[in-house]
Amino acid sequence: MRTHRIAAIPADGIGKEVIPAGLRVLHALAERSGDFRLDVTDFPWGTDYYRETGRMMAEDGLETLKGFDAIFFGAVGDQQVPDDITLWGLRLRICQGFDQYANIRPTRVLPGLTSPLRTVQPGDIDWVIVRENSEGEYAGHGGRAHRGHPEEVATETAIFTRAGVTRIMKTAFEIAAKRPRKKLTVVTKSNAQKHGMVFWDEVAAEVARDYPGVTWEKELVDAMAARMVQKPASIDTVVATNLHADILSDLAGALAGSLGVAPTANLDPSRRFPSMFEPIHGSAFDIAGKGVANPVATFWTAAMMLEHIGEAPAAARLMAAVERVCADGVMTADVGGTADTEQVTGAVIAAIRGAND
Ligand code: NAD
Ligand code: MN
Repeated sequence: MRTHRIAAIPADGIGKEVIPAGLRVLHALAERSGDFRLDVTDFPWGTDYYRETGRMMAEDGLETLKGFDAIFFGAVGDQQVPDDITLWGLRLRICQGFDQYANIRPTRVLPGLTSPLRTVQPGDIDWVIVRENSEGEYAGHGGRAHRGHPEEVATETAIFTRAGVTRIMKTAFEIAAKRPRKKLTVVTKSNAQKHGMVFWDEVAAEVARDYPGVTWEKELVDAMAARMVQKPASIDTVVATNLHADILSDLAGALAGSLGVAPTANLDPSRRFPSMFEPIHGSAFDIAGKGVANPVATFWTAAMMLEHIGEAPAAARLMAAVERVCADGVMTADVGGTADTEQVTGAVIAAIRGAND
């Protein structure tokens, strides 16, 4: 029997509700399959840990995580602790420490869910957004001078390297090449940002030569936001910078019905280090502790993790179960249902157990 070592880090807010739900579903899939088992270790890192220790994760946390096949992550964020501490202290530390440079964000309108777009037809929204996850606008470069004075200046410098842009373009072309429509939109803002963004366009054209089967085009990020709303069916695979894709993928999540169903993978495609799988949403202060968080984003995340660790049939079984439960209307309030986290989880587990191969 295959064994996969999974590090679970629920962290904060609804992360502590959706990750345990995700683990129950994963164990049900392993049991149903009979071919693999999951050896899960829970890590209590996050803002409570920070309050006790002054750190968001153990000092040797990255060393510890290196031994795992994948990281299953909830969300960080706390009303009492500044976001830059919680984000940089845990989530970004893992992303950067493990060079998880490709952030993959699939978007589809699941059966039973309604897009807020009036005209959208089933299948119109079927996108994969590839987000550059290691440099760009979130490289952490910049500074402040003359603090508090009228002449105060703050800079936030985006860093783009040939190696960094080339590898994310290759990842995006690879993904586009494996999808039925084989279409890639390279998003920039090269009209206004004339250094880094023009560089992106140039590197895209270079990498494109190795993928003659992929149709590709350029689009400016503002036009892309409008196009996602007005012509969703014209979009397939998208690649964009850290900042641009961050914003576009939240829009994508909302257009698919709710942030509560949007999954993501932070991949190190070289597989030198473990990759990290998480729902896109945050810790959701407004609903944390109430047991009503939508666990579907986490289930979809779990399916991406299963695929990554080589359990594609279990991933497919999980998505089929999720789609069935959504189609049956067993949904949480954010997508118009009345079920709570527990009821959706129970229904998905029942669908997994009942499914025929
Ligand atoms: P959020 O995603 O936590 O919540 C936005 C809105 O969506 C809220 O109304 C929330 O109730 C709703 N929502 C989100 N996930 C849901 C789910 N699974 N089911 C039902 N409703 C859901 O974003 P925010 O409010 O901007 O941020 C709250 C905190 O989370 C902040 O501290 C922020 O920095 C952090 N955050 C962390 C991550 C992460 O860990 N990856 C991502 C985004 C935000
Ligand atoms: Mn975001």
